[in-house]
Amino acid sequence: MMQGMMMHRPLLISDILEFAASAYSEQEIISRRVEGDIHRATYAQTRGRVSQLSHALVELGVGPSDRVATLAWNGYRHFELYYGVSGMGAVCHTINPRLPAEQIEYIISHAEDTILFLEFTFVDMIEKLKDRLPSNLRYVVMTDEAHMPSSTTLSPLCYETLLEGHPTTFDWPELDENTAASLCYTSGTTGNPKGALYSHRSTVLHAMSAALSFMNALGEGRKILPAVPLFHVNAWGLPYTCPLVGASLVMPGPGLDGDSLFELMDAESVYSMWGVPTVFQGLLATIQEKGRAPDGFCDAVIGGSAVTQSLIDAYRENGVEICHAWGMTELSPLGTQGNLPAGMASGPKAECDAFKLTQGRRLFSVQMKLVDDNGAAVAHDGVSPGELYVRGNSTISQYYQNDAATASAIDADGWFGTGDVATLDARGCLTITDRAKDLIKSGGEWISSLDIENIAMSHPDVRQCAVIAVPHEKWGERPLLIVVPEAESTADLAGILALIGKHVSSWQVPDDIVLTDRLPLAPTGKISKKDLREIYADYVLPQ
Ligand code: AMP
Repeated sequence: MMQGMMMHRPLLISDILEFAASAYSEQEIISRRVEGDIHRATYAQTRGRVSQLSHALVELGVGPSDRVATLAWNGYRHFELYYGVSGMGAVCHTINPRLPAEQIEYIISHAEDTILFLEFTFVDMIEKLKDRLPSNLRYVVMTDEAHMPSSTTLSPLCYETLLEGHPTTFDWPELDENTAASLCYTSGTTGNPKGALYSHRSTVLHAMSAALSFMNALGEGRKILPAVPLFHVNAWGLPYTCPLVGASLVMPGPGLDGDSLFELMDAESVYSMWGVPTVFQGLLATIQEKGRAPDGFCDAVIGGSAVTQSLIDAYRENGVEICHAWGMTELSPLGTQGNLPAGMASGPKAECDAFKLTQGRRLFSVQMKLVDDNGAAVAHDGVSPGELYVRGNSTISQYYQNDAATASAIDADGWFGTGDVATLDARGCLTITDRAKDLIKSGGEWISSLDIENIAMSHPDVRQCAVIAVPHEKWGERPLLIVVPEAESTADLAGILALIGKHVSSWQVPDDIVLTDRLPLAPTGKISKKDLREIYADYVLPQ
């Protein structure tokens, strides 16, 4: 085969920042800081600070491929870590602070993190865990000297002091584009979280695909607010995609409630916000209270859980168009985008509404197939459901240091099994119809049914049990525990919930328990969650 005669340049994350710092030098990162004020920095200024950070990391002894962890909200320092760590060849490991303490402890050890950069809001939490974390782990608090907490337990370094005095340029190494750049553990699993290890190449290609597919939201000079955390799959890639297209980033810090978001968006004229439905529900309440949307707000990208018709309608009434997206940690994460196909907008409204509720069409470089229970291909006819498998340049080929999880997720042809059940139509439009994985997604965060069931089963009053997702207006889904008790009259329901609360985060405890004398079984003899979800579909949870 004749080879093309073109140069091969590695696709590197440091190039995105260098590009933005020159081509879009005046575009900004605007952050609401945990210190309380608003901070602004252009991409050009940010390149200077990122360079200083990389020098500081070298001085701290961080070497190629070392894992550097973050425990932080959406803000400019977290953005700097994304680029400073990966740019010098190390791996930026973002940790979700909402995970139960045991899982945070597990992933820090599993990733073999060498340094943990944390906001001062998380110092108390980490102090409590310190004895169970690796003894050689060092701590840096992401603030200035004036806000440094006095922690004799962690003896942390100060972020701003670390940067001081270092040069504002860095000679970025020309890494192999397949070098690992960042690591994110997904808790969308039973048992311990699993790591998705992204490369420079996969990250740059993901940003380029997203820039193409979400053109209506992204563009030079637009202000984009990632309400999805930077610890959730790289905030859906926005810290890479925005600099690539010359959009400014508006970082909300920890303030994800409706009032805080409204105030920031209004002040900054944010054009598009990206996040899970729960955050949009909160913002909607504020919009309805004020009788208007924030100034300049026109576009919303919503994913992580299914979008409802009422949310689409309510935002449209306020001049905001919703684009429904589907993705996964394992896909970097964007898989689909739900913008209307050309010409559909001028057609019947019912057709547009129906399309908006689907998860939309795939991004370039994401390929999809459906398979049945026997592994046979399912037709892309828009009606036949099958388990969704994907492959592409920004999809994991394996989990980090977890052969067992890899073996059960990747099929013989190298496709990744999503655990979602879906239909695909002829133009590749995806509709998620069910979930094969036994999990509940509440406000964008996962709860493992099996983990809760195992804890509940250790209570003497529980003979058999099952946890299922019940629809919830604010959180999307909430867990309901269904129990076959040893003796109905004496079952200690409060005691069962208290036992669960001892082992998991408070938001993972089921909202309610119902007693039953038997659980429906599937033909395999396993408890049929599908039947249970149907039986309890209209169950009203206590407020
Ligand atoms: P995560 O890796 O935590 O981002 O979770 C990915 C999973 O969230 C997917 O496999 C789906 O089960 C679910 N999910 C993501 N986006 C959507 C969506 N738009 N509609 C329905 N489920 C979704």
